[in-house]
Amino acid sequence: MIPINDLSRSYKLFEDEYDQKALSVLKSGWYILGNEVAEFEKEFAAALGEDAYAASVDNGLNAIRLGLYASGIGQGDEVIVQANGYIATMLGIIQNGAVPVFVDSDKYHNIDADRIEEKISSKTKAVLVTHLYGMPTKMDRILSLCEKHNLMLFEDCAQSHFATYNNRATGLFGKVSFFSFYPTKNLGAFGDGGAVVSKDKGIIDRIKILRNYGSEGRYHNVEVGFNSRLDEIQAGLLRVKLLHWKTYLDNRMHIASRYRNEIHSSRVRLPEIPEGANPIWHQFVVNVEERDEFRKHMLDHGIKTDVLYPMPSYLQPALKFLGIERGANPNAEHDCDTVVSLPMMDYMSEEEISNIIYGVNTFYL
Ligand SMILES: *Cc1c(COP(=O)(O)O)cnc(C)c1O
Repeated sequence: MIPINDLSRSYKLFEDEYDQKALSVLKSGWYILGNEVAEFEKEFAAALGEDAYAASVDNGLNAIRLGLYASGIGQGDEVIVQANGYIATMLGIIQNGAVPVFVDSDKYHNIDADRIEEKISSKTKAVLVTHLYGMPTKMDRILSLCEKHNLMLFEDCAQSHFATYNNRATGLFGKVSFFSFYPTKNLGAFGDGGAVVSKDKGIIDRIKILRNYGSEGRYHNVEVGFNSRLDEIQAGLLRVKLLHWKTYLDNRMHIASRYRNEIHSSRVRLPEIPEGANPIWHQFVVNVEERDEFRKHMLDHGIKTDVLYPMPSYLQPALKFLGIERGANPNAEHDCDTVVSLPMMDYMSEEEISNIIYGVNTFYL
């Protein structure tokens, strides 16, 4: 059986280095807010390629919560998001007392810039784009809309580490951006992790205070803060993964390019890439109208597939209170009914890739 992902493969590619790093942190006797965290933050921000700062936190959701909070998003503010985004993005908004306002998605599975303006109200404070599946959003029009209406721009980069649009890394377009290092993300830790990135050093300094009980220096508390710290072992392991980022990404690009070149099926719509975008293939997502039959056909060939996400977040029981009905965002809802992720991971053999392509190409009804 070919799994949808297998995280032990990511580990095994550089097993000795991960082992050495984990042991060295264990033996150091320093486990929270130490050298590994400080170095990882510098290296991660530098790897984005422009002058920016990073504050690591304990997970992606808290990166969103703290990042929005530090930017002044609060009670009653409206934040425009895409209708097919992940629920964590919505939770980060809602837990600040703000309200997500949904905009339908485009054919790249990202927010449809042409539909943003009709959703802007007097309460709108920001647009929060997610570069879903690692596919960069077309940013030009969104940037000009934000400027025109004086809105803050945020980016959820939990699935798009180092993906670029017009040669700029996602996360560098907005005021503040949010990253997750959850193990399945491309830059995944071996546990939970996240980061807030900004070119505004003041915001990043404030996140570093907020994540540590609001303390500025030892036992000097200046804000009602949180406990949202990345630990030293995860930071150290992320530094190792960052060193080998190119290997991991090249492997995924190879898998994606074989899928794109060799899958030929009238029933399977391949992902499209906006001009100027360099995706990182967090997920390789195709659209299939007869999704159940397709997934069963793949399983019969020993291939697992996945669905991200089967339901828009606003139709989940937890978000029913927003009062948004099915039918509100036809493209996003159609995506929820038809998207399928093919296996995508940090390493696959040529034979596995060939088997998957064969499986897809032999799907007829
Ligand atoms: C994973 C993810 C998050 C949440 O990150 P966690 O580290 O799991 O809290 C937020 N937004 C998107 C788009 C994600 O994929």
